[in-house]
Amino acid sequence: MARYTGSVCRLCRREGTKLFLKGEKCFSQKCAVGKRPTPPGQHGQARQRKMSEYGTQLREKQKARRAYGLLETQFKRTYDRATNMKGVTGELLLQLLERRLDNVVYRAGLASSRPAARQLVTHGHFQVNGRKVDIPSFTVDVDDVITVRQRSKEIEHFKAVREGSPRILPKWLSVNADELKATVSALPAREDIDFALQENMIVEFYSR
Ligand code: SF4
Repeated sequence: MARYTGSVCRLCRREGTKLFLKGEKCFSQKCAVGKRPTPPGQHGQARQRKMSEYGTQLREKQKARRAYGLLETQFKRTYDRATNMKGVTGELLLQLLERRLDNVVYRAGLASSRPAARQLVTHGHFQVNGRKVDIPSFTVDVDDVITVRQRSKEIEHFKAVREGSPRILPKWLSVNADELKATVSALPAREDIDFALQENMIVEFYSR
């Protein structure tokens, strides 16, 4: 499947906010949003004008899509799934995005960013409830247990995770870093989203 292969820092600059796509660099002085907060490109500075309602809705949708690393068709499919569920569509959309296996791996501190988590999942390093899962979009549920496969535990990345300092975890995950194991203790709530997003704008964008 086609994937975006350009500079991910450009995506943050385009959305005007940190999307945390580069691991440690995102928390350092080298972060491009901190250094050059204008949109990318030759005319980035000039493009900073008041946005239309449509433009604002589009940007919120793009921000969410890029933060979770989805293509438009994948994102729209997730949105359609949210509209078929009972509850507030915008919040259900965010909940479905948070429940993706690649996101859970990232939020549990088993990968430094969502793109890195996606790669680890597709390389087959994880099990859900004891069964190998290599699909990043796999939706986890309450009480699911995500573990690193036995033979993957010795690779350098996971050794570093075991020895690294613990990450601030969302309330809906409980993690045992020594065992490289995360348990979904509840469904993610709206306040668990780790970047600023107006999900109602996304709903308005698709409802036009
Ligand atoms: Fe790059 Fe991370 Fe900063 Fe985004 S948040 S601009 S990905 S370093």
